Amino acid sequence: MVVGDVATGTEVAIIGAGTGGYVAAIRAGQLGLDVTLIEENHIGGTCLNYGCIPSKALITATDVAYEAGHAEGMGVYADPEVHLDEMVEWKDGVVERLTGGVEKLCKASGVNVVEGRAEFANETTLRVVHGGEGQGSESYEFEHAVVATWSRPIEIPGFEFDGEHVLSSREVLDLEEIPDSVVVVGAGYIGMELSTVLAKLGTDVTVVEMLDDMLPGYEADVVRPVKRRAEDLGIEFHFGESAAGWEESDDGIVVTTETEDGEESAYEADVTVVAVGRAPVTDTLNLEAVGLEPNDRGFLETDHEGRTAVDSVFAVGDVAGEPMLAHKAGREGQVVAEVIAGEPSALDAVSVPAVVFTDPEIGTVGMTEDEAEEAGFEPVVGRFPFTASGRALTTGHSDGFVRIVADEDSGFILGAQVVGPEASELVAELGLAVEMGATLEDVAGTIHTHPTLSEAVMEAAENALGHAIHILNR
Ligand SMILES: Cc1cc2nc3c(=O)[nH]c(=O)nc-3n(C[C@H](O)[C@H](O)[C@H](O)COP(=O)(O)OP(=O)(O)OC[C@H]3O[C@@H](n4cnc5c(N)ncnc54)[C@H](O)[C@@H]3O)c2cc1C
Repeated sequence: MVVGDVATGTEVAIIGAGTGGYVAAIRAGQLGLDVTLIEENHIGGTCLNYGCIPSKALITATDVAYEAGHAEGMGVYADPEVHLDEMVEWKDGVVERLTGGVEKLCKASGVNVVEGRAEFANETTLRVVHGGEGQGSESYEFEHAVVATWSRPIEIPGFEFDGEHVLSSREVLDLEEIPDSVVVVGAGYIGMELSTVLAKLGTDVTVVEMLDDMLPGYEADVVRPVKRRAEDLGIEFHFGESAAGWEESDDGIVVTTETEDGEESAYEADVTVVAVGRAPVTDTLNLEAVGLEPNDRGFLETDHEGRTAVDSVFAVGDVAGEPMLAHKAGREGQVVAEVIAGEPSALDAVSVPAVVFTDPEIGTVGMTEDEAEEAGFEPVVGRFPFTASGRALTTGHSDGFVRIVADEDSGFILGAQVVGPEASELVAELGLAVEMGATLEDVAGTIHTHPTLSEAVMEAAENALGHAIHILNR
């Protein structure tokens, strides 16, 4: 604490108002705790301002345009015109509505929202520096602190983000003009979601990925429909190539790549988008002052209550480890608030579902068949293709399948993989099944409304039991 500075006391000080931080704040407020939520940028953090929400808004808007222009098979002829500035403005409106809502909810829950950058001054005090020249700083003496700072996009050497030639995901969400051509470095979920948006806007997209396939971590047959569609959209893939450098050319830039064997290639484009992963941000927090050190991957390690190695300090969200996903951050935020309030709460989810909002979407939860075998189960697998789903055919999107992995003996559902229309929504039912220890009979015996995509979930469970109606069973 600076001499002469009077510290404000607070029961809970939360650093960062992203999904982890604001959820912790609202829940702590609901539980009657005195909460201070400190945010140096925008309430809502990455997810609401520069991540999940803006990217999904643009994915939807570009889908609307693309679908309208490609519906001749349904007897619909249209030639949509995209006004990118208006599309981005609409997206910004969605973001503002949500961030405004979160701010109101924080206030209504009694949360004291403070603008500024926080760092630890000692074991019990945070120093908050307000933005803007001459705006000063203040200190907060906390009983409990929650670190909910974010992750930043990883920069690869030679590809420092400059907002002009080398863009991160954040700048792609605010483009002023549709680029003619883009080289996307990285075929992970962010790279693939952005590539799909750009391709549907008419940009020539070249994806460079050092691994042998896109979407690492997902099974080959789950990825296949996404790759097929991406290629149909004109996306060109170069696997096994690392981005080595770039330089300006007469028409834009040239990105050079290199294979493991030293073979070089060059790709011309207007700009390059680098999406090779994200790294947790703890270096701005003066963690030494509170006696904390991140692990060698930069994360703050926590226990089942979200508590770090220092009893009074908790960590949630991207900074607390993989998977770096908003719904995982939010759950951690809730649990931490409940633990601080003395409620019996713990991080004990069986699994964290994950979704990729490509075309088609991917949604997964729990174990794959291989993982189930490795864990000592004798898995039985049920599968239902969307080509056999009446509802999928009526949407014009029938590529993909639902697969359920269960324990053959007990019938307990261990995991599921969905690739296809609305996989992001369908995986919720399967997440519930995994979490509550539902069996194949539970899902197969539940009447699902007709005609819906969710019938494919029921039929996949029936298929695992050997009696799906709308496909031939194994
Ligand atoms: C393009 C993109 C798309 C994504 N899509 C999805 C998706 O579809 N689904 C999904 O689940 N996840 C998605 N994510 C990931 C998701 O956004 C993050 O996992 C989530 O936002 C993490 O929440 P958080 O609370 O840990 O951090 P954040 O939401 O990043 O919030 C951290 C906040 O802390 C503030 N802060 C940092 N340091 C300080 C400090 N010293 N003092 C005060 N404030 C500070 C920051 O300004 C920020 O507002 C996406 C991410 C990106 C980039």
